Amino acid sequence: MKVAIIPGDGIGKEVLPSALSVLDAFGLDIEKVPLKIGYDKWKKTGSAITDDDIALIKQCDCVLFGAITTVPDPNYRSVLMLLRKELDLYANIRPFTPLEKVKLPCARKFDFVIVRENTEGMYSGVEELHEDVAYTTRIITRKGSARIAEKACKLANMRKKELTIVHKANVLKSDSFFRDVCTGVAKKNGIAYNEMLVDAMAYDMILHPGKYDVIVTTNLFGDILSDEAAAMVGGLGLCPSANIGDKYALFEPIHGSAPDIAGKGIANPIAAILSVKMMLEYAGHTREAISIFIAVNKVIDMGIVTPDLGGTYSTIDVSNAIIKLIR
Ligand code: ATP
Repeated sequence: MKVAIIPGDGIGKEVLPSALSVLDAFGLDIEKVPLKIGYDKWKKTGSAITDDDIALIKQCDCVLFGAITTVPDPNYRSVLMLLRKELDLYANIRPFTPLEKVKLPCARKFDFVIVRENTEGMYSGVEELHEDVAYTTRIITRKGSARIAEKACKLANMRKKELTIVHKANVLKSDSFFRDVCTGVAKKNGIAYNEMLVDAMAYDMILHPGKYDVIVTTNLFGDILSDEAAAMVGGLGLCPSANIGDKYALFEPIHGSAPDIAGKGIANPIAAILSVKMMLEYAGHTREAISIFIAVNKVIDMGIVTPDLGGTYSTIDVSNAIIKLIR
């Protein structure tokens, strides 16, 4: 397998090397293609990613991504959004299962996955900025909605066969369209579904998280709900994600570059390490993926955690402890 490695900026440069050292511990036959993409490149060349970078990435089977700082330029377009479009990574899969021993701000018993449409909706990129008005076009297509609903149904089929479709169809026509396409796909696949308005969902997810299994929603709603879910499982430093298309996949922690703690060596590497776990599952290395999950739970149990989880250990201490357990 050939993997493009993009640490990016800020804590991406700290958590991704840690996650890679865990991957290396398995000695798998993986060719790594390192790429320098992000803010530093933008400062030197005026662009954060080049066509050559994209061509190289397209020669790989998948991407491991850290985080990229938003460049202070009104014409800048997010590298991650560009990669999602270029590689047609239409499904953003974000699992939320509390790890044992992590202190939680709400109920413990839940295990759900947010399946977020990743290429259209509010992040269509179709925007206009004028003197006194600005527009963003929220694009929802039949093809985009059907394929994300199919992915969610496929996932639901492997789990409890329960789908929750989250939308704001009482106000937005584009969302009643999304809802109707999703319900059609769920019926076709024989998946039981229910619907939630996004505001009610934001509330109920905290009160009754155990009710949910697979949640499918549009781009912006998925983005916001998954940050809420990250708080529910104990913090952004613990949450991995997969961006999946029909040809490529990109794995990344859901957190950003965290400039407030970058360079201090205290970022929690677990989100990045669990992103490696998701990549290994995708590639069929189930045994290795399970051993990462066991080792992560064990280091938390042993109290070898970074300050965001109340510990005093560094990023490297955590990954070294995980590697020791794996070996
Ligand atoms: P960006 O502009 O790149 O999105 P941000 O700071 O706006 O960065 P995040 O990087 O997601 O957004 O960070 C939000 C908060 O969560 C910050 O206070 C950050 O320190 C904290 N945080 C994010 N990731 C981690 C991590 N891996 N370990 C510890 N704290 C983290």
